[in-house]
Amino acid sequence: MNNTGCCGGGISCPPGEKKNILEKNVGGLKVSEWLTRCPLLGEIMAYREVSWFTPQDMQDQAAAPPQGTSLGTRDIEEAADRLDRFRPFIAHAFPETAVDRGLIESPLRPIPLMQAALADHYGVRLPGKLLLKCDNLLPISGSIKARGGIYEVLKHAERVAQANNLLPPDSDYSALLGDSARKIFADHAIAVGSTGNLGLSIGIIGARFGFKVTVHMSAEARKWKKDLLRHHGVAVIEHRGDYNQAVAEGRRQAEGDPRCHFIDDENSADLFLGYAVAAGRVRQQLAELAIPVDADHPLFVYLPCGVGGGPGGIASGLKLLFGKNVHCFFAEPTHSPCMLIGLYTGLHDGVSVRDFGLDGKTAADGLAVSRPSGFVGKIIAPVIDGIFTVGDAAMLRLLALLADTEGMKMEPSALAGMIGPLRILAADGYQMSRALNSKMTGATHLVWGTGGGMVPDEEMAADYLKGKREM
Ligand SMILES: *Cc1c(COP(=O)(O)O)cnc(C)c1O
Repeated sequence: MNNTGCCGGGISCPPGEKKNILEKNVGGLKVSEWLTRCPLLGEIMAYREVSWFTPQDMQDQAAAPPQGTSLGTRDIEEAADRLDRFRPFIAHAFPETAVDRGLIESPLRPIPLMQAALADHYGVRLPGKLLLKCDNLLPISGSIKARGGIYEVLKHAERVAQANNLLPPDSDYSALLGDSARKIFADHAIAVGSTGNLGLSIGIIGARFGFKVTVHMSAEARKWKKDLLRHHGVAVIEHRGDYNQAVAEGRRQAEGDPRCHFIDDENSADLFLGYAVAAGRVRQQLAELAIPVDADHPLFVYLPCGVGGGPGGIASGLKLLFGKNVHCFFAEPTHSPCMLIGLYTGLHDGVSVRDFGLDGKTAADGLAVSRPSGFVGKIIAPVIDGIFTVGDAAMLRLLALLADTEGMKMEPSALAGMIGPLRILAADGYQMSRALNSKMTGATHLVWGTGGGMVPDEEMAADYLKGKREM
């Protein structure tokens, strides 16, 4: 998608807003004043690809998480324990997980062919190791949402089951698949607003318990996701607005119903913790691959970001385990860089990408979010090291390149982080500020591939062809 400058300074604006955008008030300042205060906004408003590194003072200032958000090591361990308790249930309910005794986890794979192709395609040297976290292969729903989304449903089911004496001490949780449990779950509802993948995860696991599930979908959600959910007996309500409006509408409808648990993608600590469990699993997988992470072997992790819960949870978990030796970067589409704008301006969920004239339209439907989670934004400032944006053309090109080299098919959102190693290797200032320059040959770059496992073949083929045309 090309955009030509129209308001001066190379800034492009949607039709109708051309003249007034600089005069517009956003969070107490005019857009023109924001441009002086945050100069990179000019590039961002022109849909250009940018790399932004978290200023040291912002990281230091925010080093203590806000009161009341209890998201430390103990909380993550508790979430991991709960997932372990549910393994007998998962193994029975989803036979494809039986080989791993009900563990919901994905492989971590070196992708040397992709690494060589990236270097070749972009004409750069790519020292260090390149790994891909294959969340497209996560059981049950084929995306990163099988972490947070499923975890929150399990936690809710445990609560309902305990309140109804379905889980005496030392129970085998597969008992929750029985008729008496099902009858009780059928009396409880779960609702969620989603661009698609969260709805899929929650719809599938929720229906397996027998909960009444309603998924509020945004306009950009793909049709096949709605069809698949309806096939699982999930009620799908379509909204004309974007993701944030679908969430708001779902929240409003659920509020009136005390038997309805609303899974709030913009505010949920449980989703966040479900994602954070991934960090300990990755540490183990790195150890199994004999890949060190220490002062001489930095780990760079690239996480596609929508509302921020998934990447925020994982990055927080990784920082707790690896401290300064891990560097976490979020990747967002040039058309909806909501976390970048929220963090950079400090307005968090008080700002939408539309306030700065961006249209929010992207082929990366999992990242088509115009307003970030305020809850996540405020706690991740000390945790993330930067955010970069990627155009749709690049994501599709990388999608095709990954398919051609490693035979692995992922959805466009999942490729947002793949350009990360090139951005870091080009960022001399960042490397210098963290004394990394001499350590890049010993570095490991871990690209989080966030989804694609359930995408129908025709959809995947169409995206692949678009990517080939971009090469
Ligand atoms: C949801 C999603 C993300 C981002 O997760 P958030 O919690 O929304 O930031 C990234 N990739 C895919 C494929 C997703 O579905």
